[in-house]
Amino acid sequence: MNIIETNIKWASSLSKRPRTDYIVLHHAEASKCSVEQVDSWHKQNGWAGIGYHFFVRKDGTIYRGRPLDTMGAHVSGMNSRSIGICAEGSYMTETMPEAQKKAICELLVYLKDKYYPVASIVGHKEVGQSNCPGKNFPLSEIKNNYRNIAGQEYTRLNDIVWELNHRGIITDSSLWLKKGADKNIYWLLRKICQYVRTH
Ligand SMILES: [Zn+2]
Repeated sequence: MNIIETNIKWASSLSKRPRTDYIVLHHAEASKCSVEQVDSWHKQNGWAGIGYHFFVRKDGTIYRGRPLDTMGAHVSGMNSRSIGICAEGSYMTETMPEAQKKAICELLVYLKDKYYPVASIVGHKEVGQSNCPGKNFPLSEIKNNYRNIAGQEYTRLNDIVWELNHRGIITDSSLWLKKGADKNIYWLLRKICQYVRTH
């Protein structure tokens, strides 16, 4: 996965974001647009610039919008506790290309593993008054399967136990590593891990 750095000139200063409880998915509601266009649209709203932290094109290229540690402008009332990812496209009517879906999922794995392991992935309409990201946006597929779609599903018991421990669902890692040697327990831990990521 590659994030393309952009050279956006912010019209006003950005403030630091105090917390990150949600990763919010959006669509641009425009069939074809560039990160620069979205930036100029948002500047016309009187904002500092593009309100999202990432913009993913239909071909799967990923562009950086706002710096990761700053507040975005993408979901009213929730900007201080969320980051925003926007997909090029108009997903009330269009169907998302596979390359774009995969790129969004890779970006989610990167953000979850590297920065925000306990943040919930949500669609804009789940946390705000909106029909975004559109009824054709594969929202539940991405939420439930992003690791699979990215080709990075956890299969190692170590990784599963690490994540459950990190989330405070289990406390004694070494005990669960031992129990997980039993195939049924391993299967159950894996299911719990998949479940908690999406709830
Ligand atoms: Zn939205």
